[in-house]
Amino acid sequence: MEKQRAGNTALQARKNNGHSLSLFTLFGIEIRLDISVIIIFSLIVYSLGNGVYASWHPDWTPTVAWGTALLSGLAFLASLLAHELSHSVVSQHFGIPVPRITLFLFGGVAEISREPDRPKHEFLIAIAGPLMSLIIALVCSNLAFYMAGDMTMADTISAGDISVLASLGPLATALFWLGSINMLLAIFNMIPGFPMDGGRVYRAIIWAVTGDQLKATLWASNVGRYFGWFLMAMGVMGLLQGQGIGSLWSILIGWFLSNLATLSYTQLVTDRALGGFKIADLMRTHFETVDAAMPLPEFVDNYLLRSGQRLWPVTRNGKLAGTIGLAQVNHLPRENRSHLTLGETMRTLDHIDYLEPQTRANDAVNILVRAGDEPILVVENEKVLGLVQQSDIARWMLLHQFTA
Ligand SMILES: [Zn+2]
Repeated sequence: MEKQRAGNTALQARKNNGHSLSLFTLFGIEIRLDISVIIIFSLIVYSLGNGVYASWHPDWTPTVAWGTALLSGLAFLASLLAHELSHSVVSQHFGIPVPRITLFLFGGVAEISREPDRPKHEFLIAIAGPLMSLIIALVCSNLAFYMAGDMTMADTISAGDISVLASLGPLATALFWLGSINMLLAIFNMIPGFPMDGGRVYRAIIWAVTGDQLKATLWASNVGRYFGWFLMAMGVMGLLQGQGIGSLWSILIGWFLSNLATLSYTQLVTDRALGGFKIADLMRTHFETVDAAMPLPEFVDNYLLRSGQRLWPVTRNGKLAGTIGLAQVNHLPRENRSHLTLGETMRTLDHIDYLEPQTRANDAVNILVRAGDEPILVVENEKVLGLVQQSDIARWMLLHQFTA
């Protein structure tokens, strides 16, 4: 989401970065690490160092086992990044910008800034990620077998004999594990539930056949929901059979996927309904402005209590200086209110989110939802043109169902 800047530098939009850390920029894409990635990283390093590598290599010292586990964990994050980068590079090739990629608990997210216009583009963007994981899987495992000097090792392992893994050195072991996990990643991502990659591929095919993107999304997100429920059911069954962490994990991922499937469909419906409309179409233009010099009691008696307006722009010498509403007044002890002015009470510009009138309504939905009931100023050239809040979207959609 891009929030455009107004001319006034004091009016800078606050950036909502959550709990993530910017690492570096690649192909013009900002690479970020969400702190939740620590959980998956620790889980992988712990299970490899404590269990998997120890069982493959009973002769390894703890230093070698943990060192290899750490290296594997880092290489895993790099392979997640390569997967997301593949989606992103193909997306940019079709003219759809990708401002950032964030790695988090359940993998990576490439923020592809808009939906592709054509099923063919969607298909290629979606398939690029799993294809990259598949390539990494094949290259890493073959490299491991090559280093061990035994290219038939894959057959031995699939026959159930993992003792051959003991002949692999630390690097080859890490490569073998990386190969297996990337193969799993490729397969898991190709499950045809939207919004997973496989779901996007599935949607692109239905979209191409029926020509109806909305119907295709509904079908694909239903599969995504069923699959999420299936994972949760598997997890519950696992828990009942006394399997611990793996079952909890599958419940968590299942829950996440089913929610995401529902959310993605709802979002597309909203996007469609809001179409090419702008904030200027939704905003309320009948509003009062108050002066910074106004005493607070006067504001409470004559404005706050007498109007349905929830937020007032405060001006000083005719220029926007801040906003005031019930929240700021409530904040103050009653005995202090009588000798304050609005200028001393208001929320100042550097603490205000705002939107520009030409911002697309679709792009503003998240900002409005985050703000809850609080209205947001619509500002252009340092002038307040209107106020807009979450419920205005619903109101607008309701009205346009009858007129459109
Ligand atoms: Zn992907």
